[in-house]
Amino acid sequence: MTGAPDEELRVQSSEEFAAAPDAFQRLWTPHRMVYIQQGEPETHECPFCRAPERSDEDALIVARGRTAYALLNLYPYNSGHLLVCPYRHIATYDQATPEEVAEIGELTQTAMRVIRAVSRCDGFNLGMNQGRIAGAGISEHLHQHVVPRWASDSNFFPIIAGTKALPQLLGEVRRTIAEAWPATA
Ligand SMILES: [Zn+2]
Repeated sequence: MTGAPDEELRVQSSEEFAAAPDAFQRLWTPHRMVYIQQGEPETHECPFCRAPERSDEDALIVARGRTAYALLNLYPYNSGHLLVCPYRHIATYDQATPEEVAEIGELTQTAMRVIRAVSRCDGFNLGMNQGRIAGAGISEHLHQHVVPRWASDSNFFPIIAGTKALPQLLGEVRRTIAEAWPATA
């Protein structure tokens, strides 16, 4: 296939997905390896502190609140995997103020509604890993995972994943979610 990716994107029947999961794995795995090899960033390089200083498109931010914001995970477990972070550089949930707790909750609820609407996912994994021993990749800045789950591969995001390079995929997923995100009151 040659030409502009948008022109080549086509709807595939689910039967054609027999080989797609393998391609999907190869698409994502190298980025996870880079993450593993680089290890945890220094505090002054904290990606969750720096992201809000960049444009939404550049930082893959889908929504900005008063005390917290939501962005796509660069190292997703699944397509549409979001993180909800307070702007403040705090490590654990019990350090969050009542306002931050409330807004992290609100952004998480909205993320679920938006992702469900645009991707027709069947469920979610929600959670916060507190500390490296518990699996937090960036343990010094609190973040809540919102991971959509599907009963099968016949959904919107993997169709794109099978036909587009990762930067294009993340950019399109970000735009799709951001455009569907309701305006904040
Ligand atoms: Zn930080």
